[in-house]
Amino acid sequence: MKISLKRKITLAFIITILGAIVLTSIVSNFSINRNFNNYLVEEHKEKITGTAEFINSLYNKDRDLKITTQEELQRYAVLQDLYIQLKDNNNSVLYTSGTSHLQHNRMMDRMMGSKMHRNSGEYQEEEYPLTSEGKNIGSITIGFFGDSYLSSSALSFISTLNRSFIISAVIAIAFGFFVSLLISNQLSNPLIKITKTANIMRTGNLNVKSEINTSTKEIQELSNSINFLAETLRNQEMLRKRLTSDMAHELRTPLTTLKTHAEAFMDGVWKPTPERLRVFYEEIERSRKMVDSLRDLSKFEQSSLALNKSTLNVSKELKGIIEIFNPLFNKKGYKLDYDIQSDIQAFWDKDKFKQIMNNLLANSLNYLKPEGKVEVTMKKENKNIIIQIMDNGIGIPEKDLPYIFERFYRSDLSRNKNTGGSGIGLTISKALVEAHGGSIKAESTEGRGTVFTLIIPHNEKSL
Ligand code: ADP
Repeated sequence: MKISLKRKITLAFIITILGAIVLTSIVSNFSINRNFNNYLVEEHKEKITGTAEFINSLYNKDRDLKITTQEELQRYAVLQDLYIQLKDNNNSVLYTSGTSHLQHNRMMDRMMGSKMHRNSGEYQEEEYPLTSEGKNIGSITIGFFGDSYLSSSALSFISTLNRSFIISAVIAIAFGFFVSLLISNQLSNPLIKITKTANIMRTGNLNVKSEINTSTKEIQELSNSINFLAETLRNQEMLRKRLTSDMAHELRTPLTTLKTHAEAFMDGVWKPTPERLRVFYEEIERSRKMVDSLRDLSKFEQSSLALNKSTLNVSKELKGIIEIFNPLFNKKGYKLDYDIQSDIQAFWDKDKFKQIMNNLLANSLNYLKPEGKVEVTMKKENKNIIIQIMDNGIGIPEKDLPYIFERFYRSDLSRNKNTGGSGIGLTISKALVEAHGGSIKAESTEGRGTVFTLIIPHNEKSL
């Protein structure tokens, strides 16, 4: 069963409040009962021993127990609700208060509905020595109605306390209910809004934005993520459309050339000279390369890349690659410089490393302008090897920069250059760098040049 967040929070609040109050009342009842009873037992003990002392001193003042002394004892017994009896050593009764006043109080209690719970326990007697000048001359018996007498005030205190607990519980539940409504509204309203936005996005409208007003960090983050997701999907959608039109364009050009050539041959307008057949062949070759790139890419995307790693002197490898590129640069009047830290060792896949560097250097060569210059640097920093390829070429427009690692993405600038590229070189390079646990990024200014930075861990334990 699914319960709404609102109901869940409200229920949790009420259960917590009730639980807290019930627990507090049980603990307080228990500890108050115990302490109160202990206190009253002590007090009662003091009262009875005080009574014994009082009787002793009264008796020592008037051994004949005149009528005034007897009246005083009687008054005391009635007032304190006690039975008092004095005996001498021969066991003959010197004085007794009688129990009629105790019976009377019992009856009064019952008539008043025992509200005071006074003296309602078992009747008990305690005996104390009657002494004179340190000698035992008889006994004092003090009778009273037992335990309940002790707890009567405790009982009324506890019942008042429990009443307060019930009142507090009602107030706390009302307050808790109000607070929980407030909190649950604060939490669930923005969530409901976000869900609505997500549902609209699901129908394909990616232009909606989740705009909520919340002070809850996690909910704000969720809203931001939804917006980010929509933006990513919008970009993907844009890339997908662009990819389709790019592919159509790339395939259309060679096919149109082939078609016109073929028509001209068929109509006898053109003779199939080796020259013309070479153009024919080149166009076929261009289309084949494109299809090959597509196949390569799908291979990369389908399987996780299997690397054939070995310990390499990557400084030497990079210098070797640069040497191969040097004549190509010189032919066009460009310069290719390098600053490579010597003898850096790494545990990488040699062929894949070559493929990455070939892609990047070929790009820098393709997108240079007259007086073009490229500089390659390599250095070791902690566990990483940092490689940079800097050129002063045509650069990449700011709007294209975030997408250049996407499949088949080519900036309009590069398209005009007619390099024959297909826009997957960087996608493959990025996949290869990441397969080595590294990262690649590009910084560029249109018209000024581009810098590619690769940070790849050397992956060599012994280094
Ligand atoms: P391509 O085959 O088109 O070179 P890549 O995937 O290698 O494909 O590059 C994608 C796009 O990135 C290029 O079409 C180009 O727009 C841009 N690019 C890559 N490297 C450079 C560079 N050094 N200078 C300018 N633009 C570049």
